[in-house]
Amino acid sequence: MKKGKKLYEGKAKIIYATTDKNLVIQYFKDDATAFNNQKKSIIEGKGVLNNRISEYILSNLSQIGIKNHLIKRLNMREQVIKLVEIIPIEFIVRNVATGSITKRLGIEDGTVLKEPLIEYCLKNDALGDPLISEEHIYAFEWANKNEIEKVKKMILRINDFMIGMFRGIGIKLIDFKLEFGRVKNNGKNEIILADEISPDTCRLWDSLTDKKLDKDRFRKDLGDLIPAYTEVAKRLGILHEQSNVTAVNVTKLSSVKKKSK
Ligand code: 5GP
Repeated sequence: MKKGKKLYEGKAKIIYATTDKNLVIQYFKDDATAFNNQKKSIIEGKGVLNNRISEYILSNLSQIGIKNHLIKRLNMREQVIKLVEIIPIEFIVRNVATGSITKRLGIEDGTVLKEPLIEYCLKNDALGDPLISEEHIYAFEWANKNEIEKVKKMILRINDFMIGMFRGIGIKLIDFKLEFGRVKNNGKNEIILADEISPDTCRLWDSLTDKKLDKDRFRKDLGDLIPAYTEVAKRLGILHEQSNVTAVNVTKLSSVKKKSK
């Protein structure tokens, strides 16, 4: 498959055309951004780790029947994915209150929620991805009721699966962001999971110490982002336990075999 022209460049990824009109190549950059692009940095090796971690999670979700855009990982930084018409909504799933919800509603940080809470944000950087209600989605036809019902069922299944997967490796899944897109399947629109699932899009805390193993290390200037993402990858069995991954050598790992689970 040949890589074609650049179709879109986002904050953390680039999308390239391929010779197949239904497939594109997703390239994971090392760029880190936060607070609506006000804070920016390049963290060498981040893209490589997110590519691996997202591939692992999406492949596992596929096995439990969650259809998603991943076809296959091509190399250390690229995946072939299905071209989807992205629904312009960020679906935020919260199991524990932290981050924006604590500031917005004055909820105590770390409050465990009785049920997973789904929030909707409009995907619009210029507006700072504002929180919206389900009614807004229907009023402005960003998605229809049938689509949102399907998405909600998928979200709860994804959340259940991911909570269990992370619990098994000593990590609490605090919250995360998902995106969904439309593809044509035999002439009919189908909703599938899109984008990435990685420590860039999830909050992951060590079960014993509450140490942050996610992008909050960058947002809050905690440092050691690459060791934290590497720790997640190692615990998932993607990287060998003994591999001493640092910001520099992670980009040089040419073939890291998947450890049998
Ligand atoms: P919060 O609303 O507390 O800032 O974020 C909730 C969860 O969604 C966090 O896990 C956060 O990483 C994720 N999230 C929300 N918006 C974005 C975004 O624009 N980009 C990324 N990568 N993650 C987001």
